[in-house]
Amino acid sequence: MSELHRFLFDDQPVRGAIVRLTDAWTEMLGRRVANTSSQPYPVPVRELLGEMAAAGVLMQSGIKFNGALVLQIFGDGPVKLAVAEVQSDLSLRATASLKGEVPEGAGLGALVNVHGGGRCAITLDPKDKFPGQQPYQGVVPLVDAQGRKLDHLSDVLAHYMLQSEQLDATLVLAANDQVAAGLLVQRMPVKGEGNISGGAARHDKEHDEDQIGRNEDYNRIATLVASLTRDELLTLDVETILHRLFWEEPLLRFEPQQGTDGPRFACTCSRERVGRMLHSLGVEEADSILAEQGQIEVACEFCGQQYRFDPVDAAQIFAAPVVAQAPAPNAVQ
Ligand SMILES: [Zn+2]
Repeated sequence: MSELHRFLFDDQPVRGAIVRLTDAWTEMLGRRVANTSSQPYPVPVRELLGEMAAAGVLMQSGIKFNGALVLQIFGDGPVKLAVAEVQSDLSLRATASLKGEVPEGAGLGALVNVHGGGRCAITLDPKDKFPGQQPYQGVVPLVDAQGRKLDHLSDVLAHYMLQSEQLDATLVLAANDQVAAGLLVQRMPVKGEGNISGGAARHDKEHDEDQIGRNEDYNRIATLVASLTRDELLTLDVETILHRLFWEEPLLRFEPQQGTDGPRFACTCSRERVGRMLHSLGVEEADSILAEQGQIEVACEFCGQQYRFDPVDAAQIFAAPVVAQAPAPNAVQ
């Protein structure tokens, strides 16, 4: 069963989370295989998408936010778009659209950053938007500060968290056909840090020493996290990993989240949403598909659900008044 475990390091401003997606992940892969309108993912794409799904759960679990966290990679290689979307209740879905051959053993660069044009976007899309409210989006390139291409999604996301939240973060991510897993630790803001009063407090000698000590704590923990191999992350259970890494650190554990409270596959597609997508496609395009095929068939890219529209259905879509909709952040159903 897929599971998420959150924890704090006692008396230190460091928090962590570890996720193992098992049934949620195999269901997503299985639905892709069953979907006759798309190709199954090649191995390197499965690894990337699994890492994105695990990272999405870790990032969603660390914020107080009611809505979807959407992790997207816009690629300039054989993967044009990869999306992992995690709701506040930890239900999640993921998909990727491909074009061309995926080289065997391709890493992040060969998949999505061939010419250095790949981008990673993190969108927070509130559930209950007020009229005109736009989702928050942060975008980072897939290169480091020196312009060198990054090899791992974990480095891209650590960079993003440092930029957007001003929080040091260390991640390990890995995925295979059975498991998509991740471990994240983050240094939380120390009281007063990063605001005006904190600036004044930093002149206080005692406070300075306090800060330095706390950073050393974080560095020690981050080093422990970085020692975890991807193979260990995939094959060891959560208790073994936490014990092996942090047996000398006092951890405060939250109740594990699994089953209906934990990460699980769910798709938010609906006939109504697909109808809106057809509407935006335009009546001419719809008519030409109908003339050619007699009906319009759309399969959800996330779950494979087939939606069929005959000429009568299509006429209804284009006869109905247009309801203003904020654009979906991922532009797919
Ligand atoms: Zn769906």
